[in-house]
Amino acid sequence: MEKTLVILKPSAIQRGLISEIIQRFERKGLQLVGIKMMQLSDEILNIHYGHLINKPFFKQTKDSMKRCPVIIQCWTGIDVISVVRSLTGSTDGKYASIGTIRGDFSISIQENIVHASDSPEAAEIEIKRFFDRNEIFNYSLNISSYLYADNEK
Ligand code: ADP
Repeated sequence: MEKTLVILKPSAIQRGLISEIIQRFERKGLQLVGIKMMQLSDEILNIHYGHLINKPFFKQTKDSMKRCPVIIQCWTGIDVISVVRSLTGSTDGKYASIGTIRGDFSISIQENIVHASDSPEAAEIEIKRFFDRNEIFNYSLNISSYLYADNEK
């Protein structure tokens, strides 16, 4: 089953949204398979946000991500990468749809609460970037037959 990487950014930690966001993923029926707190460094952020390196906001976005520890998570489920992106909402919190995490809790393009992998290729690379192999757990959810039909699993 697909896996995706989620980061609860300093804006989520400082605003007391950790449990709210985890609850949204759990209620959707996603399964948490890895979680840890990390203080991010320039070194890892230069790689993680490498696609933004030429943007004028690159340094301020990195500084924002370093202001306090973040919570890194790995979630699994059917089509979890696109499901989590739908739950997260579009990048700019001002315009993200109401009902999404960014739409409900952010009014900023930078302070937008969560990072979520945007493709299967990115998810694979990002999970390896932030987790050692033994930090991702493989276990079954006993309720899976209440989450999916047999032909969906
Ligand atoms: P997403 O996080 O939705 O995948 P991007 O990969 O384009 O979006 O951008 C990474 C992060 O950089 C965003 O989540 C946001 O925190 C920050 N960012 C993007 N665009 C801007 C901008 N115009 N000004 C400030 N910060 C930005």
